[in-house]
Amino acid sequence: MAEWQTLSRRIDSVAPSATLTVDSKAKAMKAQGVDVISFGAGEPDFPTPDFIARAASQACLDPRNHRYTPTAGLPELRQAIADKTRRDSGYAVEPEQVVVTNGGKQAVYETFQILLDPGDQVIIPAPYWTSYPEVVTLAGGEPVPVFSGSDKGYLPSLDALEAARTERTKAIIINTPSNPTGVVWDDDLVRAIGRWAIEHHIWVVSDEIYEHLTYDGAHTPYPGALLPELRDQLIVLNGVAKTYAMTGWRVGWMVAPAPVAQAAGKLQGHMTSNVADVSQRAALTAIQAPLDEVRAMGRAFGLRRQAIMAALSQVPGVHCPEPKGAFYAFPDVTGLLNRPVGPRGTISRTSSDLAAAVLEEIHVAAVPGEAFGAPGHLRFSYALSDADLAEGMRRFQVWVGV
Ligand code: GLU
Repeated sequence: MAEWQTLSRRIDSVAPSATLTVDSKAKAMKAQGVDVISFGAGEPDFPTPDFIARAASQACLDPRNHRYTPTAGLPELRQAIADKTRRDSGYAVEPEQVVVTNGGKQAVYETFQILLDPGDQVIIPAPYWTSYPEVVTLAGGEPVPVFSGSDKGYLPSLDALEAARTERTKAIIINTPSNPTGVVWDDDLVRAIGRWAIEHHIWVVSDEIYEHLTYDGAHTPYPGALLPELRDQLIVLNGVAKTYAMTGWRVGWMVAPAPVAQAAGKLQGHMTSNVADVSQRAALTAIQAPLDEVRAMGRAFGLRRQAIMAALSQVPGVHCPEPKGAFYAFPDVTGLLNRPVGPRGTISRTSSDLAAAVLEEIHVAAVPGEAFGAPGHLRFSYALSDADLAEGMRRFQVWVGV
């Protein structure tokens, strides 16, 4: 491009999505015939359940679904999301508080566009999902990561959050079950953070996209149920992608105090308008159905969790706190750095180097911890088939020399 063709400082200030970069690299290698096993993107390998796809296919043939819907979503879908919130999270919200978005990601984006003025700070417990800080930056805000390592089970402490708080702290992000660690916070921690947020007038942004994926009796703590006083400053983000294996349908939502939801609708009216009508119909069918198929997929993920934990625990130099939710294992791999590993004696200085070496030498894709504010770690998504999981872990173990 010519010298004058500079792009905005805003877009130059953010990094590409590392999860999507690893995913597209793995998919491109596969397309070239390379036998890649991808633990990259967090994307269920199951097809969307039949009854949902069939409902969408019927909706597709009905011309009433070929039009714009209200920007904030089909009224019956907003109602269904309100009903589902009461069913799953245990408290009542009005349909006017719901905005249907293009995937959970648009709900994250809109939240910070609405909340932040330049210089406002958002506390982000780390390890965090890779897009949070970038989306905050895009909104002119300042991400403030607060790191907690594997020795603390990746759980933030209230003291560390308080130490990070300033006059400019506008919001905190809660994501439990967590991407990338799979850790599930307990009720007391969420309650304590909620009370702290109330005391200091801080918005709580609760990303609950993995709510139905918990194991060993763990449960998702819902801040809106645990602390009713918090609801006026609580923004809940969610979607159908992970629960119903519907990543490609792009249906997410926000549940927020009505003025926030109205502001999100205003913004979305200038961005994308409504989510595709047929996708909304599919989401409506999914949300209104019993959770049987969701539970069946959850059981399959639970078995894979055991398989990947058993495999990782045999690898010297790798330490992985047991994930109780989502579909990620997030081992500390510092024991594999700065020494020769694999038949070529490759020395990785960083977890990015290690991820690159593993991809190149054994065709196993994982996302480096740098993407999640946690250098020295690798994220393995175990939302892949049982056979691929076993083969990928076998390659990794052989490579490390187990
Ligand atoms: N949230 C998933 C992940 O972290 C999907 C990819 C993305 O949007 O980041 O892998």
